[in-house]
Amino acid sequence: MKLDAIVIAAHPDDAEISVGGTILKLVRSGRKVGIVDVTRGEMGTRGDRATRAAEASAASELMGLAMRANLELPDGRVVATPEAREALAAIFRRYRPEVVLAHHLDDLHPDHIAAGRLARDAWYLSGLARLAAEDGGPPAHRPRRIYHFMSHLAGDPAFVIDVTPVWDEKVRLVSCYASQLEATGPDDDGSHLLFGANVLERMETKARYFGERIGVRYGEPLIHVGPVALEDPLVPG
Ligand SMILES: [Zn+2]
Repeated sequence: MKLDAIVIAAHPDDAEISVGGTILKLVRSGRKVGIVDVTRGEMGTRGDRATRAAEASAASELMGLAMRANLELPDGRVVATPEAREALAAIFRRYRPEVVLAHHLDDLHPDHIAAGRLARDAWYLSGLARLAAEDGGPPAHRPRRIYHFMSHLAGDPAFVIDVTPVWDEKVRLVSCYASQLEATGPDDDGSHLLFGANVLERMETKARYFGERIGVRYGEPLIHVGPVALEDPLVPG
């Protein structure tokens, strides 16, 4: 099976929160999309491993994903080791995606930074013919582009995807991760530990901000390293 796009995310729910609307739009337009979660999120303050796995599988079904895999790296201790990046490169060669979406390397969570690094390294390595031959699997394949989503830090995106038509669906999608949205006890008010606002509120604030910047209600920003070629200055309008 060949994928059109693959999303690399540190923890189950990162892909949905960051680019869930983009994924929904791609799948609804007939594109095949997969997600590789780097960890199971077992170090998270809320939710255990089994709960998070069940939530991720409900979310995958809602999105209509073509595949979802997990690299099983230890949560909170993600490092882009040669083994990890070659395992991800093998997934790129197997599914031959055109586009990779991954965390930006400028983030507050070390796992997000490491997962972004891992995706960039694997993106490069997947195109090396000798590494592919050594692995003995499918031939080399380097996806055409790698775009980064921003989780904690805002910068200037290269693109903003209009996700207004799928916004309600995105909210339902992220709501699959109930363990991450609800307070766990009297000492937990359900807020994000760093930012003091709940996940859905923060997601909406960011989407409204980036939507505003392109004149729509909700948007998801994507960063690209370096300029993107434009064939015709009149497209996009
Ligand atoms: Zn995360």
